[in-house]
Amino acid sequence: MAVDVVKRCRATARLDLADHDPRETFGWDKEAAKLELDEVMGEVDALQTRLFAAEEHAVLVVLQAMDAGGKDGTIRTVMRYLNPAGVDVNAFGVPSDEERAHDYLWRVHHHAPTKGTIGVFNRSHYEDVLVVRVKEFVPEGVWRRRYRHIREFERMLTDEGTHVVKLFLNMSADEQRDRMQDRIDDPTERWKFRMGDLDDRAQWDQYQAAFRDALRETSTSSAPWYVVPADRKWVRNLVVAKILLHHLRAIDPQLPPSEEGLDGLVIP
Ligand code: ADP
Repeated sequence: MAVDVVKRCRATARLDLADHDPRETFGWDKEAAKLELDEVMGEVDALQTRLFAAEEHAVLVVLQAMDAGGKDGTIRTVMRYLNPAGVDVNAFGVPSDEERAHDYLWRVHHHAPTKGTIGVFNRSHYEDVLVVRVKEFVPEGVWRRRYRHIREFERMLTDEGTHVVKLFLNMSADEQRDRMQDRIDDPTERWKFRMGDLDDRAQWDQYQAAFRDALRETSTSSAPWYVVPADRKWVRNLVVAKILLHHLRAIDPQLPPSEEGLDGLVIP
């Protein structure tokens, strides 16, 4: 029987990351998985066209991962199947002075996708319960109450027609070491490496605890988190594609009705 990957990857309130193997393959074959990616994303693309035409719903895909976890690679490899006109990708780095002068949800809300489009957040409001917690930028009481803000913010988005899908690209520490080493050794990749990445890597366990708690606290039925096995890029890509397909099928966007009198019309 086919594995229900979407269900298997879904985070629950009792999430234990030890139950999610970053090297999982679900018994798939690499070459077959690449072909299936074309197939699955073909269907996602057709649904995206309907989403765009219907202009009733939006989809917000939140991508979070450790450094070198594959956020950029996922965007490049999976999202390229979609019509760029209907996709809006935003990355959230260290907040600017203006962003810092507002509440932490301000900058992300501003970039929430418009109806008919798919928004992708490369990092997101979750940084405010991840890096902010690990680096102790604010006291515990401040980041802890943000779980509730985030649940309520995302609930508001879903109530208003934006489907929120959250993906944690779950990479192992060994795989991160290899990818960082490759970045340093390859002159065309070196620009991606910052010395600060080593500090984050040294706090691996603290980040894992922060991810675990964030996923436990904010994975809801209307805005679920998924733990995507991310050591193997081909597995990661297909899992992400299947999750997107699952959610777009659930939305089931319908083409708007055509104007009266088009049946049998012949263009003069
Ligand atoms: P990436 O590593 O995603 O390719 P950058 O190299 O620009 O992109 O890194 C973005 C950095 O911004 C990360 O170190 C991340 O932890 C940091 N960051 C993002 N959001 C916040 C935030 N709200 N507060 C502090 N730092 C943040």
